[in-house]
Amino acid sequence: MSVPDDAVVRPGARQDEPLARVLGERSAAPLAKLGLRTAGDLLRHYPRRYSEPGTLTDLASLTVGEHVTVMAEVQQATVREMRSRGGAMLQAVVTDGSRTLHLTFFAKRRGALRVHEQRLLPGRTGMFTGVVSDYRGQRQLTHPDYQLIGVDADDEAAALVEASRPIPIYPASAGAPTWRVQRCVRTVLDPLTDADLPDPLPEPVRARRGLVGLREALGLVHEPYDDGQWRRGQDRLRFEEAFVLQAELARRRARTAQQEAVARPRVPGALLDQFDERLPFALTAGQREVGETLARELAGAHPMQRLLQGEVGSGKTVVALRAMLQVVDAGGQAALLAPTEVLAAQHVRTLRLLLGELAEGGFLGGADLSTRVALLTGSQGAAARRENLLDAASGRAGIVVGTHALLTETVQFADLGLVVVDEQHRFGVEQRDLLRAKAAQTPHLLVMTATPIPRTVAMTVFGDLETSTLREIPAGRSGVTTHVVPADNAAWVERTWQRVREEVERGGRAYVVCPRIEPDDEQAKGSRRGAGRHGDGDGADLLADDLGALDGSAADGGPGDGGPPARVLRSVVDVAAELRARPALAGLQVGELHGRMSPDEKERALADFASGRVPVLVCTTVIEVGVDVPEATVMVVLDADRFGLSQLHQLRGRVGRGSAPGLCLLVARAPEGTPAATRLATLAGTSDGFELAAADLGLRREGDVLGAAQSGATSSLRLLRVTRDADVIADARADARELVDADPELVGWPALRDAIDRQLAGERDEFLDRA
Ligand code: ADP
Ligand code: MG
Repeated sequence: MSVPDDAVVRPGARQDEPLARVLGERSAAPLAKLGLRTAGDLLRHYPRRYSEPGTLTDLASLTVGEHVTVMAEVQQATVREMRSRGGAMLQAVVTDGSRTLHLTFFAKRRGALRVHEQRLLPGRTGMFTGVVSDYRGQRQLTHPDYQLIGVDADDEAAALVEASRPIPIYPASAGAPTWRVQRCVRTVLDPLTDADLPDPLPEPVRARRGLVGLREALGLVHEPYDDGQWRRGQDRLRFEEAFVLQAELARRRARTAQQEAVARPRVPGALLDQFDERLPFALTAGQREVGETLARELAGAHPMQRLLQGEVGSGKTVVALRAMLQVVDAGGQAALLAPTEVLAAQHVRTLRLLLGELAEGGFLGGADLSTRVALLTGSQGAAARRENLLDAASGRAGIVVGTHALLTETVQFADLGLVVVDEQHRFGVEQRDLLRAKAAQTPHLLVMTATPIPRTVAMTVFGDLETSTLREIPAGRSGVTTHVVPADNAAWVERTWQRVREEVERGGRAYVVCPRIEPDDEQAKGSRRGAGRHGDGDGADLLADDLGALDGSAADGGPGDGGPPARVLRSVVDVAAELRARPALAGLQVGELHGRMSPDEKERALADFASGRVPVLVCTTVIEVGVDVPEATVMVVLDADRFGLSQLHQLRGRVGRGSAPGLCLLVARAPEGTPAATRLATLAGTSDGFELAAADLGLRREGDVLGAAQSGATSSLRLLRVTRDADVIADARADARELVDADPELVGWPALRDAIDRQLAGERDEFLDRA
């Protein structure tokens, strides 16, 4: 390799050298197609697996259409002229000992095939790579690229050594077979020294964890002599991935922690105390405990940064309200950010109900000590909006509830002291920050989520927040029983609607959830996105996310591999019409609720449902988040196999919230053994959100857990699996926090700083900010 004169400038600069310069345009071009442009990119392109020398690939596992690399033994090779088409064809048969795979080469003249004929001798073992096709029931590779073991090495001694080393297998692609990638890696890596590859992992951390240096680790994963070596290399690189991420999270956390915040200590005898006195129920032990933590942190001079996770129905709203009241008592305001207009409106209703006369500030007859709850949403009329804006800006409203509309520039606060984000997964940090920017000093922050997040994911995705958890559900709940109803079993489906009728006759209410709004809203993703554009989370939009996130269902059939034909999914409009005509439901009012209705219509539909005037509500997942109608006892989910596990869990959390037990019926087409069937069975089997979250994690693919940012070639997480590497993440976090506590801006660790910028640039906004 030639050393360009300008590459000597700065340690680490070698990583930035374009591959075209190091390897030449010809070798670099196919690598560029893999997204590998610099030396650093290539060095971080780790083998996907290692093939044990002498072990043949199981040919039974080959899938048509897939680009594969297999190790197999040549059984025979024959050349023949093709009379009909002219030209010649060489066909070799390779085997794994039981099954065979055909290799086919075509040429104009027989002579052109001689090279292959001379090399593909029976008994030789080689690596063959290409796209699997099917020719008359026989799997074959056409014009495969290949390399023979022990034959293509430089000399015999080298061949012997090579023949005993694990063979790195890189992700395969046409134009860049794994051995060519391997050769390029060697060309780039071999001349590099420790000095060329500054190590992001600080020496003390490496020493404590017994990890090798970066240069050594790269050598071990790319050019191992035995399995132990590549494992050691991977261990270190995996730790590095966790560490770089955790260092960035720790730095963010430290930065915010150093900011000043206005302390909002509890004021005895004020609103919060009066509220506690009026509360019709006793707080659960968990609510009390979390409440104390929040009270303490709000009284501190640095901003609280807390994530509150709690099972659906665990009573997070009361916890948040108490925190808000403490801030109001201390002279500040609180903003409650909700993901949908329905939810925002419901929050306002709930808060006003819970507060009673305490929320009648400024009204005749209000309590002496009281405040106001204002609502700001995008679709509000001008007059209402003006009044609410004034309430927020003047400080008359202690609590301002809203959707994204709260983030617009015209919204101002007199003294914003606390931001509460409900159901965090619809909000990015950017939005959080927009809201926080409306305060003179960084306000305290409480993020609430009903999706239980396994500890490792919480540490990875919300590493900058401290976590509190509400584990218990308030006493007096009877829980939800869940059953799967096969959609093609007419008798069971009929029974489902009878159950709905029985529940309603007993004073209950029924949700009927559909994946679509209108029958022709289908499959085109664009239209679903469109449906959610006005910022009001809507069923159709959520479903797009869900399927996009590959929550299982969409991937099952996978495009192009002959999955089941797309079926027409049930829609709110159709199902509502159908139910109105069903004898089992004769005489019952059937309502509709979805994101395409105006806010007023939605409001009315929900109110009619809550009051019992319209006891059956056909809706999209617009009700998924936080809708609270205690009388709702039964939920029927149609096309349940199209929903993700955590989403279904959220949905069923809408029933069984009162004293009557809940019933959730999942109507689905999910043949036994499919991932969808597994998902539904899992859901029916447990109501523990944490157990489900763990199961969900196991059922999903890694990339889907953390989002699409993880899957690209530039992703910083290659070896680390949040589903598997909990210990690594915990260790890395402890080390990173210690390091950052001692040196918040990482002044002493330029290589680490550099790695954060390199690896997390671009991705950081999407990935770290998923909170
Ligand atoms: P989530 O955590 O899902 O947001 P909510 O805050 O909506 O749950 O609470 C669900 C229901 O439980 C509400 O009707 C609320 O008033 C009620 N609730 C909250 N805390 C308690 C408690 N300690 N005892 C009884 N009911 C409670
Ligand atoms: Mg809630």
